[in-house]
Amino acid sequence: MSGPARPGPPAGLCDHCAFQRLVPTRRTVFSMCGRHRDDPRFPRYPPVPVARCVGFTPREPPAPPA
Ligand code: SF4
Repeated sequence: MSGPARPGPPAGLCDHCAFQRLVPTRRTVFSMCGRHRDDPRFPRYPPVPVARCVGFTPREPPAPPA
């Protein structure tokens, strides 16, 4: 039995952060922090939901339709 990966649990701030990278696996989708490569303060996979983070950077809102 297999199907599309189920969404992971809500990741809190990460779900609204420009540095979040979603990593789909066979069973679920993990929330990875893109800052972990350059800054050891940030774990690759922070425990979610993240409530506070010094690296939080809001995502740009999508551009309005032309
Ligand atoms: S910088 Fe912080 S809020 Fe942004 S993805 Fe990483 S852990 Fe989440």
